[in-house]
Amino acid sequence: MADSPVELPSRLAILPFRNKVLLPGAIVRIRCTNPSSVKLVEQELWQKEEKGLIGVLPVRDSEATAVGSLLSPGVGSDSGEGGSKVGGSAGESSRQDTKNGKEPIHWHSKGVAARALHLSRGVEKPSGRVTYIVVLEGLCRFNVQELSARGPYHVARVSRLDMTKTELEQAEQDPDLIALSRQFKATAMELISVLEQKQKTVGRTKVLLDTVPVYRLADIFVASFEMSFEEQLSMLDSVDLKVRLSKATELVDRHLQSILVAEKITQKVEGQLSKSQKEFLLRQQMRAIKEELGDNDDDEDDVAALERKIQNAGMPANIWKHAQREMRRLRKMQPQQPGYSSSRAYLELLADLPWQKVSEERELDLRAAKESLDQDHYGLTKVKQRIIEYLAVRKLKPDARGPVLCFVGPPGVGKTSLASSIAKALNRKFIRISLGGVKDEADIRGHRRTYIGSMPGRLIDGLKRVSVSNPVMLLDEIDKTGSDVRGDPASALLEVLDPEQNKAFNDHYLNVPFDLSKVIFVATANRMQPIPPPLLDRMEVIELPGYTPEEKLKIAMKHLIPRVLEQHGLSMTNLQIPEAMVKLIIERYTREAGVRNLERNLAALARAAAVKVAEQVKTLRLGKEMQPITTTLLDSRLADGGEVEMEVIPMEHDISNTYENPSPMIVDEAMLEKVLGPPRFDDREAADRVASPGVSVGLVWTSVGGEVQFVEAAAMVGKGDLHLTGQLGDVIKESAQLALTWVRARAADLNLSPTSDINLLESRDIHIHFPAGAVPKDGPSAGVTLVTALVSLFSNRKVRADTAMTGEMTLRGLVLPVGGVKDKVLAAHRYGIKRVILPERNLKDLSEVPSPILSGMEILLVKRIEEVLDHAFEGGCPLRSRSKL
Ligand code: ADP
Repeated sequence: MADSPVELPSRLAILPFRNKVLLPGAIVRIRCTNPSSVKLVEQELWQKEEKGLIGVLPVRDSEATAVGSLLSPGVGSDSGEGGSKVGGSAGESSRQDTKNGKEPIHWHSKGVAARALHLSRGVEKPSGRVTYIVVLEGLCRFNVQELSARGPYHVARVSRLDMTKTELEQAEQDPDLIALSRQFKATAMELISVLEQKQKTVGRTKVLLDTVPVYRLADIFVASFEMSFEEQLSMLDSVDLKVRLSKATELVDRHLQSILVAEKITQKVEGQLSKSQKEFLLRQQMRAIKEELGDNDDDEDDVAALERKIQNAGMPANIWKHAQREMRRLRKMQPQQPGYSSSRAYLELLADLPWQKVSEERELDLRAAKESLDQDHYGLTKVKQRIIEYLAVRKLKPDARGPVLCFVGPPGVGKTSLASSIAKALNRKFIRISLGGVKDEADIRGHRRTYIGSMPGRLIDGLKRVSVSNPVMLLDEIDKTGSDVRGDPASALLEVLDPEQNKAFNDHYLNVPFDLSKVIFVATANRMQPIPPPLLDRMEVIELPGYTPEEKLKIAMKHLIPRVLEQHGLSMTNLQIPEAMVKLIIERYTREAGVRNLERNLAALARAAAVKVAEQVKTLRLGKEMQPITTTLLDSRLADGGEVEMEVIPMEHDISNTYENPSPMIVDEAMLEKVLGPPRFDDREAADRVASPGVSVGLVWTSVGGEVQFVEAAAMVGKGDLHLTGQLGDVIKESAQLALTWVRARAADLNLSPTSDINLLESRDIHIHFPAGAVPKDGPSAGVTLVTALVSLFSNRKVRADTAMTGEMTLRGLVLPVGGVKDKVLAAHRYGIKRVILPERNLKDLSEVPSPILSGMEILLVKRIEEVLDHAFEGGCPLRSRSKL
């Protein structure tokens, strides 16, 4: 691109551009098809050795020709090769009708001299018409002095308009011009950077900005974007540099703004589009999912069905009104509206609740009830008696507000099954509400509906599930509810169990009162102690302490085995579990107060048997129908043409006979080991664990009944500190401290040190540990056990493995009574421990222990700790002088 002014001849052949302007610096590609233009190109450019310049002159349509019928088709323009782009088509006047005296076009007075950068000639096939494609570069402005027709095209006498070099150099000094050009460059730069973000191909334009003189730049920039013919003309007419620059700045800035605005609008539209498109897509998906689920019935129908359900629910009048109000709200809502589904769920609950529905209570037959209780439960005579009494009172006074029965005992002793027997006796439905781990009041009373995802409490939910208003409702593990920052579930339960208040129980979610007075509540707990006293006050506690092995054996033989067999589709003809084997399971595989694990182990045997029986039945059936025994493996071997070896299965009986009457599988010790694994407990455990000095055997009481608790003590080099481990509570820690103090004080008497002024802890630490380390322990009843362990440690003598003990101690060495004696004795019995040391004042509790157990055990009652030691060591405790104590 030459930046020195061009030599302009005085005459130029004129190529008309219809409604288009070629500006200096712009490059444009045109196709000439019109005969006059073709002639011009041919004569002025194609045939000349030295390619001269031609003049490009804009022409404007007159009103008449603007209609366009005379426009030549096929004259178009493409993007220029040089990167500057002229959009639109370059037109030319097709017919010079001047001869007819009719001037269809208006010539503009100023034009641009152009040179051809590239020429190509083409001949159209059928017509033989010649066309040219010319790439033109605009060079400089000219003024038309005179326009005349020379042959088929026009020629003009022209004068130059652009400044000479010296004029330019002078003009460039003008401060106004400098300011203008700076402003123009800034705007142009901005445009370039915007374009750069959109398309990455403007690098070359940027180079132009630095190399081309600014007055030419103005033309090039303006030429490179689309604008109206008028604007292009005014740019062409801007001969004065200052005018040209300010005009160009204005046009470039306008173009820049229009790009920015367009961009903003696009973004907005895109955003809106994608939002509505997303919604549309989701709707479509929802519809598809509904269709897939066969759930596409009309929402209208749903609402109508819901309304019918509400009408038939038999609600009290005021609640019905409330439901109607909610129903009206629902009708006004669109299914997509946020509150719709929650409102629906609420109405569904209102409709589902048993406002009127009750189980028909038949005349209570006490004898039948007793029989049914006996049938389902072995032993438990006292408990069953109490239940019968309870039922009798209900019979005489159906609306009597007797206390709520609460079964307390370790797991698997039959609490749940007794409660369900009560329901059976009363011919009512039974529902179990688990309260274990409930810490939030909202679990009982529900969340208010203002919360997202709110739900009714467990009681209302249970009533919905059981769908009668008078079920027997078991509040399971009522001792496991705790209170924290989320409220106190116990106080909500108090309201539930209070006959005065539960007529109008208020669930936060339901928000209308519900009458719970027809529900019969029964509760269960593992221990009484954690139950809050006000709650305990409303309940009558019935304790189920756990079973002796003999009782377990009976329960297993009479109840568990038949039930387990039935549950697994077996009968006595398939599987027999002899009493001796059940005994082994009780002794070696379970160590529990209840019978839950026993039942589990029996079920494991039944499962193993079921597999065998099922296989046997299949084989026998095949045999009976005389079909060959084929397996896929055999089939494939046959297909391979290989030899097949058939295994001969010896059958002692006639096949048909065997099928109808298969010999039962009898469980033996080998099968026990195969199915249940090696024995988990044996009588030797205590002996093994007390094999070294410093270990004693205690008895503790836990939520799963009584347990044997070993206490281990060890000494090591140290500074006389006491270390305690095994998740111990404060009370038990204090007991340990107390025990150590007592032993140290009596060291001389106990023969642990030669004289009383010797410090037992001289340069050593004591560590006491309570296995199992992960289970939290607390309570004072380990006192005597701790002393025994310490004495054993210091005297380096082993305690007797057959003796377990329990008892709280005082600093003076008295042994105080403890709780849970029956469970503890049973636990000792389970461990095979033959001697139990108990505080004397617990004598009365021994009456609760079943006599078969007591008769097999030696119970040693003690008043003082020295007696404990005397019993705990083989050959008694070597006290120095009894008289002193
Ligand atoms: P809990 O509620 O006390 O934890 P379950 O009532 O669930 O215990 O009893 C566990 C299993 O033991 C049940 O199958 C139950 O029928 C059975 N069971 C418990 N005690 C007896 C009993 N005395 N007679 C018959 N089966 C019993």
